[in-house]
Order: sequence, then structure tokens, then C-alpha cells
Amino acid sequence: MFGIGIARGMLLTLRHLFKQPFTFQYPEERRPIPENARTNLLWFEERCTGCSTCAQACPDGCILVQTSPNAEDGTLNIDRYEIDFRLCMYCGLCVEACPYEAIQAGGPYDDAVYDFGALYRDKHALTAMAQEYLRTHDWTYPIGKVAPKPEERDLRLGKASRGVGAFTPDVGLGGGPTPIPMAGEKGDRRPGNVAPPPSSGNRAPSS
Ligand code: SF4
Ligand code: SF4
Repeated sequence: MFGIGIARGMLLTLRHLFKQPFTFQYPEERRPIPENARTNLLWFEERCTGCSTCAQACPDGCILVQTSPNAEDGTLNIDRYEIDFRLCMYCGLCVEACPYEAIQAGGPYDDAVYDFGALYRDKHALTAMAQEYLRTHDWTYPIGKVAPKPEERDLRLGKASRGVGAFTPDVGLGGGPTPIPMAGEKGDRRPGNVAPPPSSGNRAPSS
């Protein structure tokens, strides 16, 4: 009968008038994020050996690992570790593939930027992001393991060589702007541009 639909609609509106709203006043209010949510990718340099398994597992080719042999102990120096979040689909295959839990799902979900190029992150930007996560999460990795605090951290932990001051806030943790590769520059992964140097991380370490 004419008008029944309108009455039903009004009734529904009336019912919701007395219920709590489902919406949050973001960004003032934030919805609790479930544990283990795949919000972002965090790379922990102190766990990384530069093996390149993550780069090989990534179907989008977002990860660049460049290493060089460390003559001192036969391990690999991580010269470059970069993730192109412009291409990343957050599938988590790199996380699954990493044998050392050096790349883990977690971190900020409000990661929108005005400059698209800022989504290309080098190891300094990734380290700053990872350290900020640990600082705000009681020095615990997203997987629940305890992480070393900066003062406890051996600068030559793992197998990679890290420069002195790599974890010193005024040097390595956001101490300077992240260089973003421009179109055609070395490191730019956009289609049609020159590909960055191939990963050497799967080379066998020299003895
Ligand atoms: S989450 Fe998926 S697309 Fe993103 S870097 Fe890892 S493997 Fe590549
Ligand atoms: S797979 Fe893990 S340990 Fe190997 S290069 Fe990637 S993040 Fe580092």
C-alpha cells in the first residue's frame, strides 16, 4: 500500500536515533586495531642478514636488497634495503618468506602521504619507522618477541654491517630527509625507467 515503505524507512531511522553511533571521530578517536593486523610492513635491520629471500618472494618486485661481502666475518653488508610502497599490495608474502623474521606486518595504518614518491622508502626511512614502532610498543616486535633497546643493541648484530650511529636518533632515526629517487634515477622502480642494480644478496658469502 502507498506510504508503507516511507513508514518503514522512518521507523528504521527512529530506531537508530537511540543507538550509539558506529562511526568514530577520526583522527581524534581511533578504532582499536586487532593484534597481528596487517597494517603496514616493518623492517628490522638488526634481524636482517641480507639474504634477499623477501625480494625474491615479492610478486610486485617492491623490495630491493643490495649487499656486499663482509671480508671480516664472511657475512653480508646491507648496502641498500628499500621497499616501494607505491607498488606494494600488502600481501605479506615477504613476511612469510623471511627466515629471520626481519620483516614483519604491523606499524602505522594512517600512512597516507601528499607526495607519492615518499612511499619509496630506503633503509633509513624503514629503520626510523621500525624504531618508532618499537619505542611505542615497549620494545616488543609485532610477533611478540622482545626487541633490543638502542643502548643494548650491538651495532654489528646479526650478519650485516651497520655504520656507527645507525641507531642514534640524531644520525639514523629520521635525522635527515629520505632521498626519493626521481623518474629515471638509480633506484626508481617505476615502469619504463631504468631498473635499479640487481640484488646481490643471494650471493654466497665469501669465507
Ligand atoms: S607485502 Fe607483498 S607486495 Fe608488499 S613488499 Fe611484501 S611481498 Fe611485496
Ligand atoms: S628475507 Fe628477511 S633476512 Fe633476508 S633480506 Fe629479506 S628481510 Fe632480510
